[in-house]
Amino acid sequence: MPATPNLIDDVYDEILSRNPGEPEFHQAVREVFGSLDRVLERNPQYVQASILERICEPERQIIFRVPWVDDANRVRINRGFRVQFNSALGPYKGGLRFHPTVGLGTVKFLGFEQVFKNALTGLPIGGGKGGSDFDPKGRSEGEIMRFCQSFMTELYRHIGEHTDVPAGDIGVGQRELGYMFGQYKRITNHFTGVLTGKGLEYGGSLIRTEATGYGATYFLQNMLQAQGKDIAGHTVVISGSGNVATHAAEKCTALGGKVLTLSDSEGFIYDPEGLTQEKIDWVKELKNKRRGRISEYAVAFKGAEFHAGKTPWGVKCDLALPCATQNELLGPDADVLLANGCVAVSEGANMPTNLDGVHKFKAAGILFAPGKAANAGGVAVSGLEMSQNSARISWKEDELQRLLVDIMKGIHDRCVEYGTKPGGGVDYVKGANIAGFKKVADAMLAYGVV
Ligand code: NDP
Repeated sequence: MPATPNLIDDVYDEILSRNPGEPEFHQAVREVFGSLDRVLERNPQYVQASILERICEPERQIIFRVPWVDDANRVRINRGFRVQFNSALGPYKGGLRFHPTVGLGTVKFLGFEQVFKNALTGLPIGGGKGGSDFDPKGRSEGEIMRFCQSFMTELYRHIGEHTDVPAGDIGVGQRELGYMFGQYKRITNHFTGVLTGKGLEYGGSLIRTEATGYGATYFLQNMLQAQGKDIAGHTVVISGSGNVATHAAEKCTALGGKVLTLSDSEGFIYDPEGLTQEKIDWVKELKNKRRGRISEYAVAFKGAEFHAGKTPWGVKCDLALPCATQNELLGPDADVLLANGCVAVSEGANMPTNLDGVHKFKAAGILFAPGKAANAGGVAVSGLEMSQNSARISWKEDELQRLLVDIMKGIHDRCVEYGTKPGGGVDYVKGANIAGFKKVADAMLAYGVV
């Protein structure tokens, strides 16, 4: 049996050469591999069955043309993607992202993360991800609808309630999911739970919209409470102003935290008074209905400032929740947060902290929750939406709230189980990676070579 560090390096080199030009995918693989040396040493059956090599190769990758007609009657072409990464634990499950930066490498990194995240929830769901390089910003309602319909006109043949169940992500919210579900239903003549995050009127689940941001906050609270601390009375810096960020802000505020910032791709707002529920509702309206920019917050609320072209990590805080996008918190940002006394970071976004930043947080010994654990609340409630759709029932809100709290506690405890360091303290990155990997690897072993 080869020494595992060499094996891990060899497999990683192979992945680099087989997947050129996909730096985010490489980064996601590197982060998981960094936790696996002892697991492979203790479980030679994984090495024997080439689990490491197989788990990094998507089961299926679909790339398709998405033609649509804009308001000026011009034919536009975008590219659509669906990467069905791993179905060892259940149907592929993971969101669709519409953003001009989307390419195969982005979708593969998100799909890879999703495999382990979904395993951590304890629900029977595999991992996948998809999207398009379509940019919804500035597009009319009609253009968004025609794009979504054309996207689904190809995607429908690859998905199904027992095969692959997409949801939303950046640029894909309830409006887009409504258009896509409508088109799926029209083409197939099936009303089934093929998408999650749907509107409540047509099969959506209560608290799905809130679940990712709430879940990331519960995870933060779990980490703090394990050290006898609390969110209450502490200052919080949040990036993003979309679904995840606004609901993280809402839950942090409800739990007694003082949220100081939100952001978008143009800059961040700093509100020294702290956000209130009323201000958060205003941001939700701004983003979801008026499709406005976060800079407008500083015009609407006295005392708030807008900092153009900057990220919020320079604002002094106790707690940080990056909730915008990947690689938005870099090594130097981590230095500033640490120097300012930040004691805990919970990733609402997927891979928002780059590897340099993660190493700095870990070396400083602060509480650091990786996205695949902290933001799993969204896909967990999506899993519950699938169950409700299969049974054709709707669960009550208090029941779903309780399940979300329980699931986030369960993920936290699994990270503690696999990530507790010999000298005390918890490496949540390692804990999440090992717990997720082992579950998927054991299922893959059971299937033989597939
Ligand atoms: P939204 O589209 O609702 O919001 C995205 C927010 O991030 C916006 O404020 C957007 O600003 C900002 N943003 C996007 N790209 C960039 C960029 N390149 N630089 C700076 N800011 C950027 O998406 P979500 O809130 O749903 O998703 C946010 C993150 O959470 C993503 O990483 C996503 O993968 C992850 N996630 C989401 C889940 C969900 O349930 N929605 C589940 C689990 C993870 P702007 O409007 O200017 O683009």
